[in-house]
Amino acid sequence: MAVDKKIIVGNWKMNLNVQDSSLYLNKLSNLVKKYRDVEVIVAPSTITLQTLSLQVDLKQFKLATQNFYWRDNGSYTGETSASQLRGIVQYAIIGHSERRHIFHETDKDVRNKVASAMRNNIKPILCIGETAWERSSGETNDIIRDQLLSGLSNITSEELDKVVIAYEPVWAIGTGQNAMPNDVSLAVKVIRKQVEHLYGAKAAKDIKILYGGSITETSASDYLMLPDINGLLIGAASLNANVFSEIVKKAHKESKPKKD
Ligand code: PEP
Repeated sequence: MAVDKKIIVGNWKMNLNVQDSSLYLNKLSNLVKKYRDVEVIVAPSTITLQTLSLQVDLKQFKLATQNFYWRDNGSYTGETSASQLRGIVQYAIIGHSERRHIFHETDKDVRNKVASAMRNNIKPILCIGETAWERSSGETNDIIRDQLLSGLSNITSEELDKVVIAYEPVWAIGTGQNAMPNDVSLAVKVIRKQVEHLYGAKAAKDIKILYGGSITETSASDYLMLPDINGLLIGAASLNANVFSEIVKKAHKESKPKKD
C-alpha cells in the first residue's frame, strides 16, 4: 500500500567532524533500519558530505547541504556551488534563519539558491518564518506570504513537487521555545493558501510542509499528528542518534496510507 511518507530532517549545523559524522551515520543506520516509510534526511557540515555520500545507503537516508553559493562556478573564494554538490546531496536547506540573520542572506539570495538547486537536481528545503518582533507586531502571515512569494518566484508549477517548505519561526529555533501546535497549524494553512494562490489547489494540497523549532523527542508527536504537517526539521535534537531515531520512529507511527 502506498504511504504518505513523513520527512524528518536533521540539521547538524557546525557540529561533528568527518569521523564522528561517519560513526553517527553508521549508528543511525542500525537504529532506523525498520522505518523505510520515513524519508530521513541528514544535513552535515559541507566538509563531511563527500565522505558520507560514499557511505550512505540512499534507500535509508538522503543527504542535504546546509549551504552553497548560487552561482555554478567562478571567482568566489571559499564558496561551494550546487553544481559541485550535484550527485553528492539530494536536498539543500535554503533560507535557514541562521543564514538570513547571521550571514545576512537576502530574499534575492534565497530565490537564486532555490533556482540553482533546481537546475542542479537538488531538492530545495525552503525555510520561512517570522521573528519574535514580527510576530508581536501581527505580521506573521504577511511574512510567510512574502517569503514564499519571493522564494518560489523562479519555480514553475512543473518543478514545485521537488520543493519542500519548512515553517521555522525564528524565535523558536534553538531557544527551547517551540511554537504551539495550534499556531503551527494556522501558519501551515497560510502557506497552503499562498501556494494555492500561486500554483492552484492541487499544488497546495500536495506540497510538503515541515515544522522546525526546538523540537524534542517528547514534543515531536504533537506536530507529527497534525493533519497538515508532512514532517519535521530538527536541529539540536538531531545531534544524538538515539534521540533522532526516536523521532524517526514517531514519524513512522504517524505515517498514513496515501489518499488520492
Ligand atoms: C533548525 O536549526 O532548523 C532548528 C529547528 O533547530 P532547533 O531544533 O535546535 O531549534
